[in-house]
Amino acid sequence: MEKQKGDSLSGLGEFGLIEHLSAQFENKHPETLKGIGDDAAVIASTNDHMVVTTDLLLEGIHFDLTYTPLRHLGYKAVVVNVSDVYAMNARPKQITVSIGMSSKISLAAIEELYEGIRLACERYNVDLVGGDTSTSLTGLTICITAIGTVKPGREVYRNGAKPNDLICVSGDLGAAYMGLQLLEREKRVFAGNPGVQPDLSGFDYLLERQLKPEARKEVVEFLDQIGVRPTSMIDISDGLSSEILHICKQSGTGCRLYEEKIPIDHQTSVLAEEMNINPVVAALNGGEDYELLFTISLADYEKFQGAKTNANIYAIGHIAPAEKGCCLITASGSEVELKAQGWANFG
Ligand code: ADP
Ligand code: MG
Repeated sequence: MEKQKGDSLSGLGEFGLIEHLSAQFENKHPETLKGIGDDAAVIASTNDHMVVTTDLLLEGIHFDLTYTPLRHLGYKAVVVNVSDVYAMNARPKQITVSIGMSSKISLAAIEELYEGIRLACERYNVDLVGGDTSTSLTGLTICITAIGTVKPGREVYRNGAKPNDLICVSGDLGAAYMGLQLLEREKRVFAGNPGVQPDLSGFDYLLERQLKPEARKEVVEFLDQIGVRPTSMIDISDGLSSEILHICKQSGTGCRLYEEKIPIDHQTSVLAEEMNINPVVAALNGGEDYELLFTISLADYEKFQGAKTNANIYAIGHIAPAEKGCCLITASGSEVELKAQGWANFG
């Protein structure tokens, strides 16, 4: 049967493709005055401050299409951006999506990618207001910019932590890293013996954390609801260790993290043991958890007690004066200096 014009990318052309993809999106914010379809988007300004963040995702560097479903990739590409907006204590409102794609990619594949983007736009209440499209000689490239707003005075930087502040994290750590280890292991097994089906059973949570993470919208909403403003905040993209070091460096402080307090899911521990990895090292150095790491005063921590929320918040340590350094207190009580990556004397 002859292929209909419109069934393929070349048939649609660039303008046709954008029109086709954007037809699935609806703008939700009244401030989005002009979205896709003109030379630039137009957004009405309000009294809030604006927050802008960008992330670039490259095939072979940030994702591997042999085991990443395109729908999940689109979803995750949005999540990593809105997570940065939440880490400023702001709410995401609009995104732009720029795509570089090989001429071999199918229309169905691009549709899958945009379906993931659309689902994330629904979940996080953001408008897709523009982007750019080009062919690429180096595989798939996705660049997303997110725009958000925050009430003046509510923004939270990395540099406000004070000695004695509690260090809190919004969920368990190390699972996304273990999910990646599992996918890479099964990819190697498959490469060695294509007849063998990958064995991913029993680790659904780890795969979900790696392939389809969520951003901690509910934490920012909860903090707002109880009137607590963290003294500092960051999202965990590179691992707990490197993120707390960013906070301490910018705040001019030290810290104490307690190994036993670091939340680690059961599946993370089981797979880590199976693969001979220390699960605490996975939590400290793994990354891609997209949990929020923040510090709050002791008085504000009291406001958490008894407050109703869907957000999980774990206190895992406290800020110390700079001269105390940045350390992990192990289960046996010894102090290990935190490093951005790698461990000399741990586990
Ligand atoms: P220009 O030539 O001015 O760059 P384009 O033809 O690239 O215009 O884009 C036309 C419209 O489509 C613009 O509103 C642009 O923001 C939007 N757009 C282009 N590519 C994408 C994309 N990949 N995703 C979403 N919107 C896009
Ligand atoms: Mg363009």
